[in-house]
Amino acid sequence: MLIGVPREIKNNEFRVGMTPGSVRELSAHGHRVLIEAHAGAGIGCDDPHYHAAGAEIVDSAAEVFARAEMIVKVKEPQPAECALLRPGQVLFTYLHLAPDPEQTRALLASGCTAIAYETVVGAHGGLPLLAPMSEVAGRMAIQAGAHCLEKENGGLGMLLGGVPGVAAAKVVIIGGGVVGANAVRIAVGMGANVFVLDRSIERLKQLDEQYGAQIATVFSTRESVEAHVLDADLVVGAVLVPGAAAPKLVSRAQVTQMKKGSVLVDVAIDQGGCFETSHPTTHADPIYVVDEVIHYCVANMPGAVPRTSTFALNNATLPYTLALADKGWRRALGDDAGLRAGLNVHAGHVTYAAVAEALGYAH
Ligand code: NAD
Repeated sequence: MLIGVPREIKNNEFRVGMTPGSVRELSAHGHRVLIEAHAGAGIGCDDPHYHAAGAEIVDSAAEVFARAEMIVKVKEPQPAECALLRPGQVLFTYLHLAPDPEQTRALLASGCTAIAYETVVGAHGGLPLLAPMSEVAGRMAIQAGAHCLEKENGGLGMLLGGVPGVAAAKVVIIGGGVVGANAVRIAVGMGANVFVLDRSIERLKQLDEQYGAQIATVFSTRESVEAHVLDADLVVGAVLVPGAAAPKLVSRAQVTQMKKGSVLVDVAIDQGGCFETSHPTTHADPIYVVDEVIHYCVANMPGAVPRTSTFALNNATLPYTLALADKGWRRALGDDAGLRAGLNVHAGHVTYAAVAEALGYAH
């Protein structure tokens, strides 16, 4: 199959759909990859890397879209890209169509077959193409929180791990899923005093088995959230209720009672955030202060580390990209119900129930 990888054009997007390693795997399977010149510049992979892996470098996105049978990207296609898609062409990327009627209309008009990373389901459940970004965001949450705790950012002026003779910071992680578990890992590694709250006993059990006495697991209730947040130095919001906005677990009144200079990192901000005082911020201006409590609420945290994020995403997408290329999309989807769950748009129809319902295409 002829597979095309355009340079990402969304504002501040430095990731790329395929690493040179993925290109090499596809080449070894007998496929050809076209990549737009400089597409990998943001992750430190230049055109010669891709050329050595077997890719053909082409000058324009227009040529990539015109020639390729399947387009592999990261972000949802922008209007200029939607205009280049055509009937019969496969698009494999993040789409997030439910809140985006304009993109949905453009994909329907193109006649393409669009498979969304975010709705592909793994063999044992879960969302394997979303998980790598949660891993990145969870690990970054502690890094970002540690930075915010420094005095120059308005923080308490405190080192997460303390030093001999000086207590470590209290880190409270609300939600022990993929983001939360990765935040726990880094916080433990930095020597913090870690508390993780979840309302799933199963999750708490897994974390308890993994970390033993290095962390405290706490069943999440209004009372336990309040008790732990009020004397925390750093709180990470990492909850998810599938299909719903994040629940507001910490009220404005509670934020007001928190320690001055303490830090909230709201990773769940992309679902509305779990602190009442949260609003989305960007990497260009990530922090704001409410009642002397520092807030970090960047909605696309993995964007700050495009190299790690691209490699992590490719590790997860490559088996699916290979299946689509080796078998063609019909047989690949027929053989794998989880990949089939990724099909969102085909030949002018919305094929994913939740998107159809959200946008009024359901009959
Ligand atoms: P996940 O489903 O793996 O984990 C969510 C956890 O929250 C589950 O263990 C669940 O039991 C727990 N939970 C639900 N309600 C709770 C409550 N009231 N109290 C305590 N725990 C509760 O999800 P995830 O992959 O870890 O993602 C978490 C959030 O991070 C999502 O909103 C996701 O969209 C977001 N996210 C944001 C970024 C970013 O850049 N800001 C990046 C990746 C993920």
